[in-house]
Amino acid sequence: MPKTRILIAALLASAIGNATAQDRDDRYPGITGTISPSASSPGGAPEWSGESGASGHPLMTAAAIRQAADNFHACLERIWPAAAKRSITREFYQSATAQLTPDLRIMDLMDNQPEFTKSFWDYLDILVTDARIAKGRELLEKYRKTFDAVEQAYGVDRTIITAIWGVESNYGTLGGDRPVLRSTATLACIGRRQNYFREEFLSTLEILQRGDVRPDRLVGSWAGAFGPTQFMPTAFKRFAVDFDHDGRRDVVDSIPDLIASTANNLRKDGWVSGQSWGYEVVIPSTLNFMLADHRRPMPLREWERHGLTRPGGKPFPHPDAQAFLLVPAGVQGPGFLMLANFNAIMKYNPAEAYALAIGHLADRLRGGERFAQDWPRYERVLTRDERLELQQLLARHGFDIGEPDGHLGAKTRSAIREFQAKAGQIPDGFASAVVLEQLRGR
Ligand code: CA
Repeated sequence: MPKTRILIAALLASAIGNATAQDRDDRYPGITGTISPSASSPGGAPEWSGESGASGHPLMTAAAIRQAADNFHACLERIWPAAAKRSITREFYQSATAQLTPDLRIMDLMDNQPEFTKSFWDYLDILVTDARIAKGRELLEKYRKTFDAVEQAYGVDRTIITAIWGVESNYGTLGGDRPVLRSTATLACIGRRQNYFREEFLSTLEILQRGDVRPDRLVGSWAGAFGPTQFMPTAFKRFAVDFDHDGRRDVVDSIPDLIASTANNLRKDGWVSGQSWGYEVVIPSTLNFMLADHRRPMPLREWERHGLTRPGGKPFPHPDAQAFLLVPAGVQGPGFLMLANFNAIMKYNPAEAYALAIGHLADRLRGGERFAQDWPRYERVLTRDERLELQQLLARHGFDIGEPDGHLGAKTRSAIREFQAKAGQIPDGFASAVVLEQLRGR
């Protein structure tokens, strides 16, 4: 089952003040997520550029997109039997699809590969702000009884739900305004992820036929994520619950349904009740950084034996809990010991910076401190070309980075560590300009 929720960059768009902010979508690699803030260009939405996509995928050439658009209704007709198997009535299918036109602008958005990305600390700065903390605390107070009941039922901490609400859509204010039916129909028939989006399209039809969410409220990101916590239609099918017992699972307009459905999602993704997502830690310079690997979890007490401590010397509440060490910005930046709940957040939103922002915002909502250690803010973030070059050089030197895609994830970090270790350096895995220089010199 592919990852089901699209990473939303609306918050970044809001912070930057226009619709050009993008971020890579890690929910399923290869798609760049971006949406416009709902307030953008009313009546004047930008048209498709008419250009071939940057991915180079054969289904993303301008000619292939035009051809698929011409065959849009024939394609929808081919999907009909699959819809019938899900008890969609012919009448409903007809009425839902008869007037649909493809939204080709989505093809630009799907293949947008931003030249510049942000650093880890930029994301945290943008996503965890005083305003977002204040608004989150307001909501925690306003819906206290609902949160009480949801915690009781699902065992998922209220601040995590609130943080997801805040990070995914700025508390429902930036969730995108594209009709989910049109977006998923477009993606099911045009472009490079049709199989994946066919499921999303079919699930959208089910939501509409059942009447869970009002049709005019089923709007969201270009990839079909909707509502304040950005459910994809298939995720809605798996996780949405009718917590206010009105017969509809309305994760857009019912706060109890929204909060409980998001909690249910996390619980089913492995949330451990009563535990944190993880801890900021101070790493001794003597540490073998090869241990900083998500595939090498150890009990917290074992990490303590390696000299890792929490800032200020606070104890770990559950020293037997397994944690892996994340060092996102190298030896000059903070470390984080990540518990099982971090993995649950990563299933919700598989970009490390976003998942860390969600965890940190949750801590701040309940009165926690800022991170104690500084980020290496003087480090220059590599451009897309440089990131690709870095990966290609690593591959040429025999390190496994998977497919070069310009995305510096855990696999690239691991390859950098191995390269640094061979070169006799501290293997902190950080993709700095210095590492790139060193690779070029070999
Ligand atoms: Ca309901």
